[in-house]
Amino acid sequence: MSNYFQITPIANEIAKKYDLCDQCLGRLFSKQLHLSSNKLLGRKLKNGYDSKNKCYVCKNLFFTLDHFLKLMINSSSNYVFKTYGIGIMIKPSIVDRDDFIRSKYNLKGIDSIKTDIAKELIKLFTKKTKKIMDSLDPEITFTLNLKDESCQLRSKSITIFGRYVKSRRGIPQKQKSCDNCFGKGCRMCDFHGITEFESVEGIISKLFFKKFGGTTTKFSWIGGEDNSSLVLGSGRPFFVKIKNPSKRKSILRDRKFDFISLYNLKIVNASPKKPLHFNSIIKIKIFTTSQIDSKDLKKLKDLTDTPIVIYEKSGKRSEKKIFDVKYRKNSKNVFTMTITAEGGLPIRRFIVGDDVLPNISILLHTPCVAQEFDFLDIMVE
Ligand SMILES: [Zn+2]
Ligand SMILES: [Zn+2]
Repeated sequence: MSNYFQITPIANEIAKKYDLCDQCLGRLFSKQLHLSSNKLLGRKLKNGYDSKNKCYVCKNLFFTLDHFLKLMINSSSNYVFKTYGIGIMIKPSIVDRDDFIRSKYNLKGIDSIKTDIAKELIKLFTKKTKKIMDSLDPEITFTLNLKDESCQLRSKSITIFGRYVKSRRGIPQKQKSCDNCFGKGCRMCDFHGITEFESVEGIISKLFFKKFGGTTTKFSWIGGEDNSSLVLGSGRPFFVKIKNPSKRKSILRDRKFDFISLYNLKIVNASPKKPLHFNSIIKIKIFTTSQIDSKDLKKLKDLTDTPIVIYEKSGKRSEKKIFDVKYRKNSKNVFTMTITAEGGLPIRRFIVGDDVLPNISILLHTPCVAQEFDFLDIMVE
């Protein structure tokens, strides 16, 4: 613990040898004296003396902070937020001179010039905007480059949960990526990573870009379907992460678009880390090569006895349970089967018999194909 009179000789020595601005000189001693204003302390230590030369350490950077404050205000003007963080880049030569003075005079435990610049900018920005500085988990983060006078802004993503119902065939679940950037986001696609909005993914993305701003969306689907599948009942659950949103809050109501409806929309903390376990009720229309023997159809009931084993080309093996089977013969070569099954059963392969055992073609002793299949409901556990 020091007092003012103890530090004045060394402060005078430094000030005599190096031209320092009030801020830089004060910073060297304010911590030991438990003072909060480097500027006031520096001024006092210099006794009103003002050099014509630029500050040896910062080259008068502290006089230009208003300019950087303006950069921060401008770059964040389209964002709605409460908390912010800040990262700063300055010329290495400034850091070097700061280090040199501190080690030459053996000054320990003081703020670096970078920390001090950040502190000053935080003071200015908070005073001007009433936003709250949060270094741990801010809603937006400024990266201020004092070398080339640029300010980058990153906004923390938000995640939304919802369910969709698809009431017309032919709408794809996923959207093709932008041809130019393959989904990363570029000028051609307005940084959305997609240029068309006709799929379930596209329709949902478009809605949320409108509500929250943002660049790209990232979906975690609870299961998937064919373009030709309907999704009925309470709908298929999904999580979507919106990157770089400009708004973080919005009233989320159920929405009806042409053939796509959205339900249960809500903002959540994050997408689940592990895939969620779910069961689906699926109605499958199956075409058989030979005529259907009604006695054979009865064997479908046995599908609930043993798990269905799925072999992937990669060597991976997985099992899916079927809990319930109902069927109805429609014509000589067509029947409809409604199953309740664990999510992730590959329906087309299960009917044809492509590395899935048991399968419908083997069970009925005739090659079968799924003409179409619809999701009547999807239940998340
Ligand atoms: Zn300075
Ligand atoms: Zn693009």
